[in-house]
This record gives sequence, C-alpha cells and structure tokens, in this order.
Amino acid sequence: MSPVLMEKVPPGKYVADAAVRPRTTEDVAAILAIAYAHDVPVTPRGAGTGNYGQATPFDGGILLDLRALDDITVNDTGTITAGAGARLTSIDTVGRAAGRDVWLFPSTKHSTIGGFLAGGSVGTGTIEHGTTTDGFVVAATVAPMDGSGELRTVTGDALTPYVHTYGVTGIVVEAEIRTDPRRDWTAVYAEFPTYPQTVAVHRRLTGLPVLPRLASADEPALVPTLTASVALDPAAFSLRVIAEAGTVPELEHLVRDGGGRTVAVRTDYAETDRLSGMSYNHPVWFLQRAHPDRTLFHMEIGGTVLWDDPDAVRATYPGDVHLHLELFRHSPGAMLVASYESAAAVESGIARMEAIGLDVHSPHQWYVDRNPELAIATAATTDPKGLLNPGKLSASTAARVNIGVR
Ligand SMILES: Cc1cc2nc3c(=O)[nH]c(=O)nc-3n(C[C@H](O)[C@H](O)[C@H](O)COP(=O)(O)OP(=O)(O)OC[C@H]3O[C@@H](n4cnc5c(N)ncnc54)[C@H](O)[C@@H]3O)c2cc1C
Repeated sequence: MSPVLMEKVPPGKYVADAAVRPRTTEDVAAILAIAYAHDVPVTPRGAGTGNYGQATPFDGGILLDLRALDDITVNDTGTITAGAGARLTSIDTVGRAAGRDVWLFPSTKHSTIGGFLAGGSVGTGTIEHGTTTDGFVVAATVAPMDGSGELRTVTGDALTPYVHTYGVTGIVVEAEIRTDPRRDWTAVYAEFPTYPQTVAVHRRLTGLPVLPRLASADEPALVPTLTASVALDPAAFSLRVIAEAGTVPELEHLVRDGGGRTVAVRTDYAETDRLSGMSYNHPVWFLQRAHPDRTLFHMEIGGTVLWDDPDAVRATYPGDVHLHLELFRHSPGAMLVASYESAAAVESGIARMEAIGLDVHSPHQWYVDRNPELAIATAATTDPKGLLNPGKLSASTAARVNIGVR
C-alpha cells in the first residue's frame, strides 16, 4: 500500500533462501535451535497481509510459514487458545459456535492470530477493547532464538515485548486470547449529505447502551469503490456500523435526527464481516486498486481534530486529501489518503499533523515502533545473535509513537 516502500523494498528485492513450514509447536523450537547453531536468519510469516514490509526477509535465510499451526480450542474459562497460524475467520467461527465473541480482529480477517498479534494492532472490537496490547492476550507460548530449543509460556506484563514487535523477540507459536459472551451483531449502512452531519453522529455512537463493534465513515471520494452489499450514493458520506441488535432502533433515531438516512439494516452475521472488510486500511486499498494511474499514499492518524476541524487535517498535504474514519473509545482514528509526490513530501506532513494535535503512525517504514526499547532489551536475551526478522529493530525509532487509542 505504500509507494515509499514500493521504491525501497520492491517485490523480489529481498528473498528468503528457504520456506519452512513447521507442523507442530515443537518443530518451531527445533528449527530455531538448528538456525541458531548455523547462524541462519529466520523471518516468521502468517498470512503475509502485513503492509509495512515487516515480514520481508532482509537477510535471506528461512521464511517460517506458521500457517500449519492452526489448532483452536475454546477453554472452559471462555478464552480461546489457538495455534499461531489459525485464521481469525476460523477462530471467530469456532468461538461463535461455542457462544463466544473474539474481542478483536483486523479487517484482514483471513490473517493469522500470530501475525495479528505480532504485526497488527486494531480492528473490529477496538471501540470496546482498544488494541492488541490492551489485555487481548492472556498468554502466549513463544520460541526464543537462543539455542535452547525451548518453548516458554509468557503471561501478564511479560507479554508486552512480544505484541506488535514483528517476531524480533521470539516466535509466537500459540496464544490464548480473550472473548466476550456472543452478541447479536447487525450491519447498519447510513448516509449523510455533509461531513459535519456524519461526524456529529459518529461521535455519539459510544453513547449507545452497548458499544458498537465497529463504526467506519467515508467521504464521497472513497464511497464508489467500497464493496458494500447495498447501493451507496456516490455523492453522500457513508457511515457503517456493526451495532448490537437491540441498539439499532436508537442508532436509526440518531441517524434520522442527525439529518441522515438509514440505507440498510442487515441482520446476517456475514454482513457484519462485510462491514469489517471495508474498515481500517481497506477503503484506501480499494481506492488504490481502482486507480492504478494515480499513485496514492496514506497515513494513519488519530485525534478529535478529525471531528472538529477536518479542513485543518486536509491542509496538511497539498492537493485532494480524503479521510476514512474509524471510531475509538474516546476519539476517532483515520486513514488520510492523498496523491504521492515523494518520500520527503510524505515525511514532511508528519510535523504538520502533529502540530494540530494528531497522533501519527507512518505506514511507510518497517521498524518496530511500539515499545522499541523494551523489544531491544528483550531480544538481547531471546535473540542474542539478532537472527529473528533482521533489520526491523532500531533504537532511532524509539521516539516514534503509534496511533493513540485513548
Ligand atoms: C488492506 C489491509 C487492511 C488491514 N487492516 C488491518 C486492521 O484492520 N487492523 C490491523 O491491525 N492490521 C491491519 N492490516 C495489517 C495486517 O493485515 C494485519 O495486522 C494482519 O493481522 C497480519 O496478519 P498476517 O497473518 O497476515 O501476518 P504477516 O503479514 O504474515 O506478519 C505480520 C508480522 O508479524 C510477524 N509474524 C507473523 N507471524 C508471527 C508469529 N507467529 N510470531 C512472531 N511473529 C510473527 C511477521 O514477521 C511480520 O513482521 C491490514 C493490511 C492491509 C493490507
């Protein structure tokens, strides 16, 4: 998705020497022991949907394909234990059949739980549950790259250096994640004539008696390429909400009161998945795919200025700048999309965005940027030779913060 990364890391520039697919968690420990003994780099890989180049094997070596570790168990406590390669789609299906809702999943729902924990952050469920570092993970079984050939169970605060650190501190082979009792989720499409009307409702959605699972909004520029199951007015602002069924009448009332129109209410659970598949990075990705003639870039940003002063946000880059919004617990997040000129021009907008109070996460670099100091300190013992996913840890990124979910 990043024209900057397309220039720096074009497909085929960095390749692994071998792809290895372990069948058991013990296989992973054994592979790492051999790799350690022979100084062979190992880059873990789930479904390969990560979009910052995090899974690029910069030093060749082994690409560790974890998709065969796909066991899923619903525990008596209601948590779910899954192999690193289990897909969120499968985990959710198994969980719902047992009366449970997974706390969080990304818009790339076919991705793996190991890849989501190691490379992802937010998604459907974030309004209530925040990010993958906010209690989503109960425990993880991790294989270190220290020659021990062991597997270790990590819980509580000790999990922090293993979440969103791209596998540089160890390979996650299994994870236990939190769920809620299953709810009856409904997909609601609404539309509004203007941006202020759209966000006036967007910001009130956390007042519903049950928090929505997702609330995405788009400017008209992003609407025609959405993969909606209903016809959307290409001139209108789109609001799409995964709402608990009992809250839908109140939501419809909010929309009507706010000068909008409810376009459709879909009660089939698969329709809520369709809404998830049009959230976070996806609307930008759809736009890029539909306009190969225009090179577009995006930035991941967050802050109430998105609701209060969108023109100030748009003014941070020249030309046409469009916003796709998501709802967090206390503020909105957004994907800003604009025409690409150069890597330097993209970078120069970061200070302008921070100056108006936005949190900014750049999707144009591959360094670990969540808790990098902790990752460096942990990797000193779990990967003393620096063989795990080389090139992703740098002390100089320690100052960069992630998009805030506050
Ligand atoms: C269009 C689009 C939409 C997206 N939407 C979202 C979204 O809503 N929310 C979100 O958080 N992300 C999103 N992403 C990013 C990405 O798709 C998700 O984070 C996804 O969950 C990554 O899982 P994966 O299995 O594809 O991992 P991969 O891409 O294979 O790997 C991701 C990272 O984790 C490492 N890794 C993989 N497996 C393991 C393991 N078992 N142990 C240790 N390290 C491992 C890899 O080396 C890599 O650094 C999006 C990306 C795109 C392109």
